[in-house]
Amino acid sequence: MRIVVTGGGGFVGSHLCEALLRRGDTVWCLDNFSTGEPDNVRALRDAPGFHSLRADVTSPFDVTGPVHAVAHLASPASPADYGRLPVETLTVGSRGTENCLRLALRHGARFVLASTSEVYGDPEIHPQPEDYWGRVNPIGPRSVYDEAKRYAEALAMAYRRSLGADVGVVRIFNTYGPRMRPYDGRVVSTFIREALQGRPLTVYGDGSQTRSFCYVDDLVRGLVAMIDSSLSGPVNLGNPCEHTVIELAEHVLAATGSSSAIEHRPLPVDDPTRRRPVITRARAQLGWAPRVPLDEGLRRTVGWFVSGPAPGGGPPHH
Ligand code: NAD
Ligand code: UDP
Repeated sequence: MRIVVTGGGGFVGSHLCEALLRRGDTVWCLDNFSTGEPDNVRALRDAPGFHSLRADVTSPFDVTGPVHAVAHLASPASPADYGRLPVETLTVGSRGTENCLRLALRHGARFVLASTSEVYGDPEIHPQPEDYWGRVNPIGPRSVYDEAKRYAEALAMAYRRSLGADVGVVRIFNTYGPRMRPYDGRVVSTFIREALQGRPLTVYGDGSQTRSFCYVDDLVRGLVAMIDSSLSGPVNLGNPCEHTVIELAEHVLAATGSSSAIEHRPLPVDDPTRRRPVITRARAQLGWAPRVPLDEGLRRTVGWFVSGPAPGGGPPHH
């Protein structure tokens, strides 16, 4: 297949590009590198069938020749990133998504939207099934991301209903793995960096809030299955194994062998108190389930932080 991956230079996108190339697809990686890293796809540069374009998807774009699928991942994703890029986040979720939908429609291609568990906001229902509509603060600091993704879902479904576009929506829950930026502000990358630097692990609030962490290879298998299907979704993709932030800190200390202390910082505004996916739909309709347990995933991620191209050091470059 000939597949466009927007946000292909990011953490998840670069793993998706790699997986698609591995099975013989031709891949156009489109990225403006606002939160991604050219290094993430440097090793793919000479792979047969790989094309990397520095492009901002908020301006219309096209690809020469046929396109069979568009996987739309372009968007800042870490709360620190979308806090720093609020208008850009709303624009890539709205205008960017529309440009990608138009590209897919023009080519008769499958379109897969990388949506998020954040559409559930701070949920009153636990764990979260796809038919839960969510509890999002429409004007809070997280709204630029949450509402952009909710709009993107609505737009994708409108293109499906009114224009017959072949659209599928996945709602991704917290994912971690190699190529997270050490300073992206997300909890797994931050804890690993702090543990390796021998600094205190910065736990926000009392650390009793929960997340469910999925290893990136598992997520990418789900994304590929969604690209290959004709499901509209939404389909939750995440690991239902739920941990408090304090428990995560303990797992990271064990995985790094660090004796760092734990330091508490104020809880960010509207930080969801708990989050765990119901994955019955992904299991039944995609035959998908995560396989990599937290400690194994952390071990692999720590290994990359220790030896990867952008290990622990260096201040944020943005
Ligand atoms: P990331 O920041 O590493 O990757 C996003 C990529 O999109 C970056 O390379 C960035 O440069 C690119 N981008 C941003 N705006 C763009 C624009 N206007 N034009 C072109 N490229 C642009 O984040 P990630 O964790 O890899 O997330 C990828 C996708 O998955 C995002 O859509 C995110 O919302 C979704 N998601 C991720 C998670 C997670 O835990 N990683 C959870 C839920 C949803
Ligand atoms: N968090 C934390 N310390 C950090 C970064 C995050 O305790 O250095 C907490 C954060 O408050 C949230 C959880 O970890 O409760 C997950 O945060 P992240 O930004 O990774 O993802 P999201 O909030 O988008 O799920």
